Amino acid sequence: MRICRLLSVIFMIITSIDAGQVGSRETVERISQIMTNETISEVNSVGAAAGAWSDFASLLNAHKGEMHHALSKLKLYFQTFGYEDLHAGSNPSDEFDNTTEAAVRLYQENFGLPVTGILDAATIGQLTKPRCGREDVVNGTSVMHLHNHHGGNRSLIDITGTKRFQHFPGSPSWISSSNLTYAFAPSFAKFRVPELLRRSAFAMAFAEWSAVVPLSFVEIIDFESADIKIDFVGGEHGDGNPFDGILGILAHAFAPEDGRFHLDSAEYWSVHVHREASNFAIDLQSVVVHEIGHLLGLAHSSDQTAIMFPSIGPKEVRIHLAQDDIMGVQELYGVRHVHNVRPQGDGQSGLPASDSPQSSIQLNNILALLALLLTHLILYYFIAD
Ligand SMILES: [Zn+2]
Ligand SMILES: [Zn+2]
Repeated sequence: MRICRLLSVIFMIITSIDAGQVGSRETVERISQIMTNETISEVNSVGAAAGAWSDFASLLNAHKGEMHHALSKLKLYFQTFGYEDLHAGSNPSDEFDNTTEAAVRLYQENFGLPVTGILDAATIGQLTKPRCGREDVVNGTSVMHLHNHHGGNRSLIDITGTKRFQHFPGSPSWISSSNLTYAFAPSFAKFRVPELLRRSAFAMAFAEWSAVVPLSFVEIIDFESADIKIDFVGGEHGDGNPFDGILGILAHAFAPEDGRFHLDSAEYWSVHVHREASNFAIDLQSVVVHEIGHLLGLAHSSDQTAIMFPSIGPKEVRIHLAQDDIMGVQELYGVRHVHNVRPQGDGQSGLPASDSPQSSIQLNNILALLALLLTHLILYYFIAD
């Protein structure tokens, strides 16, 4: 029985290759469904937890002058994301003071909420949503502010519309190479998404970016020598940006040319969130596309449709770059030129003669998929039946 199912997976991949769909989300979902039903034990390990910031709900309608036991935690939250600068070593108080109100106002402005300075329902709803661990405000300067009053490094409005993307201060980018490698840490052996599907989700996420800028991304085995080092870690993990358990902060990545990319091991990562019984399932590919933006030099955007918007809900899927993301990354790396070639008959190939690395990524992907499936097939043939 298992062999039959595995053969059907292989058949589907072969037909997908034929149709040029390898790596498409639909293919992965179908493969995932077959493998999930038969070979993967779905265990909802989340229980009844409601996330790292669930107690902010008790702050509903809190405003300046009030005392509340959850305010000290909110102040730490604002400090984490750059909205409030607490004195080192001092414990924040439970008072809703002038600084807290200023932080709430800036937060509301960044997230497109009515700027009231009060912790109204919309603000609480946004505050409790899972998000990226990178700050929204760097060195006191809002990096996602639509109307940047603090001397941002570039104009935010142009004739094509409103730009909301931002680069990190100094606009760092990859200048050492345009052919970047990435590798997974051994810690991914414990990742709940099967290796095949996890690697495919990452390849598709990298392809989103390489489709619009002249960069290529190739997976390699050697973690230490890779440009982009992807690790699966929990809690305090040595870089001063601890993870916080289920939901809350999901992941973070560093600006060029650091290359560190960390996923929180406490999350319920998934590549098919809509079929998960858990209400805490987080779409892997959506988060990965976002973090790659940081690795390439983009900070957070206030455009709610952008990949670089900081938050994403459980079961929410956002995997394609918005115009804002494309403008932001192309300002750093330029535009990928795909040379249009005349059709056959002029002695030319009918295929676009692209300098795209996607073909090599696709090939890499296909070989990896086939190698893994063959290994599974051999193992099942000799051991399982
Ligand atoms: Zn982020
Ligand atoms: Zn980290």
